[in-house]
Amino acid sequence: MLRLTVHFQPTVRPEACPALVLNADYRPLSYYPLSLWSWQDAIKAVFLDRVNIVSHYDKTVRSPSFEMRLPSVVSLKTYIKPARHPAFTRFNVFLRDRFTCQYCGHHEDLTFDHVIPRSKGGLTTWENVVAACSACNLLKSDRLPNEARMWPAVAPFQPDIDDLRRAGRQFPPNYLHDSWMDYLYWDSVLEP
Ligand SMILES: [Zn+2]
Repeated sequence: MLRLTVHFQPTVRPEACPALVLNADYRPLSYYPLSLWSWQDAIKAVFLDRVNIVSHYDKTVRSPSFEMRLPSVVSLKTYIKPARHPAFTRFNVFLRDRFTCQYCGHHEDLTFDHVIPRSKGGLTTWENVVAACSACNLLKSDRLPNEARMWPAVAPFQPDIDDLRRAGRQFPPNYLHDSWMDYLYWDSVLEP
């Protein structure tokens, strides 16, 4: 059994003045983890003419030859087309399932369960693998859902990029700069 520790968003250090990176359509490159660059990388990209500065921090960096306010939001000049079908990875399966055991709803000690066990011909695919805590995994064991009387909360499916984007939005990092909020959706209350 494969056991993974769930890593929520890496800690953001506001004093490090990270820049939120938007695609050319002004949507974040990614939500989970949130697309952030160090201020050094952001400035480098400005000088390489790869990004537009959308918003600033109050902080300024100076050298003998130049002075610049640190960017707090940048947008790429060239649109990066997101993959329509996200890769089938452990991380993306957890993200699709909101880091939640599909049998009991717990968030800890997550593993993967083959809904139809491999021993009964179940495949390792989006449609047959769900996040499950190790207790449920152990309990369900090598049985079919109707034998174990355990069914996943959401029938497993192949997500598209928007599904994962929506899922990623549910896990904001510890810190969000004010200037980022116009480009994020953590401040909106409901989605249809
Ligand atoms: Zn469970």
